[in-house]
Amino acid sequence: MAEEIPETMRAMQLAAPAPVAEAPLRLVDVPVPKPGSGEVLLKVRACGVCRTDLHILEGELPPHRSPVVPGHQIVGEVAALGPGAGLVAPGGEAGAAPLATGDIVGVPWLHHTDETCRFCRSGRENLCEHAAFTGWDVDGGFAEYTVAPAGWVYRLPAGMDDLAAAPLLCAGIIGYRCLRLTGVVGDGAGLPSAAGPAPTAAGESAPAAAPPATAPKRLAIYGFGSAASLCTQVAIWRGWEVYGIARDEEHRSLARELGAVWAGEAADDPGVLYDDAIVFAPAGELAVDALRHLDKGGIVALGGIYSSPIPSIEYPWIYGERVVRSVANSTRQDARELLRDAALVPVVSRVQEYPLELANEALLDLKEDRVRGSAVLRVG
Ligand SMILES: [Zn+2]
Ligand SMILES: [Zn+2]
Repeated sequence: MAEEIPETMRAMQLAAPAPVAEAPLRLVDVPVPKPGSGEVLLKVRACGVCRTDLHILEGELPPHRSPVVPGHQIVGEVAALGPGAGLVAPGGEAGAAPLATGDIVGVPWLHHTDETCRFCRSGRENLCEHAAFTGWDVDGGFAEYTVAPAGWVYRLPAGMDDLAAAPLLCAGIIGYRCLRLTGVVGDGAGLPSAAGPAPTAAGESAPAAAPPATAPKRLAIYGFGSAASLCTQVAIWRGWEVYGIARDEEHRSLARELGAVWAGEAADDPGVLYDDAIVFAPAGELAVDALRHLDKGGIVALGGIYSSPIPSIEYPWIYGERVVRSVANSTRQDARELLRDAALVPVVSRVQEYPLELANEALLDLKEDRVRGSAVLRVG
């Protein structure tokens, strides 16, 4: 029998942006939200903590709604269905079975879009003019319950631990989109598991298909936090060599542990040119640093929603058809394919766990580089 849904819930709410050291999130009791048409009510089990939450707390991303409950890497159990939600295919996946109470689903950063603008109609819903973002435009997962549209939540791989799944829902998905825009995954990249034996363990596996005739391609990853630690595992599984760049040794050692062939600081010389690079750290000068170590024809993808300015670029550093591009949000396809690959690799999340009421502390640890892997709130 379904659990009774209480009238009120605990939530960590942001009334106004402030430095995270001042603990701007307040523990409040608020009414449990009611699922509207096409929405599901989720009992939150875990919610990942992301650098974007930090930008919302500290005001680098201006408030879209006040007060707001942040948190956009939500693992929740369907507690109730709003009108019509039982007719909707979750994750926008044609033919997927509709949700029922008790299902475990994930909610990512992209809460929903208008589905009608020129971007949505051309498969670029991540660029939607009227997108709503979880924990910024609508209340998110730093709470015991939340609501989300049934068509924009995703069934999680069977048997995946709640805390391990949470970081996949932003760090994993955004990392995956970065991999798509650098050609590591997506059209033409192939699925290594399709023909050969399954990989043995994350970070140790060669691609299971026939060994490539050419040398592995080199991917540099700048900023070795949650997204980097997850997409490194996918890139290595796809047969790429990963070079990890981080400013402190804890994060460089994590890169090596996950299978990076080299780890260093931005000022160090890796002794090679990268085929492509992904910059997760919100420091514009790293885009230039990546360009200076990039082979001709390579792509530097900037994975942050916020960055300090990019310094001027000498023309020879970008000549040779080098590309610098940002990565904005994600599509439902990115989410579905990341969750598929994460189960196949399988991707291992290194999680630092906090209770809901210590969300401020988790975000301060993230800001001060004290999180190794991914910070996650255990909620229910
Ligand atoms: Zn749109
Ligand atoms: Zn995020």
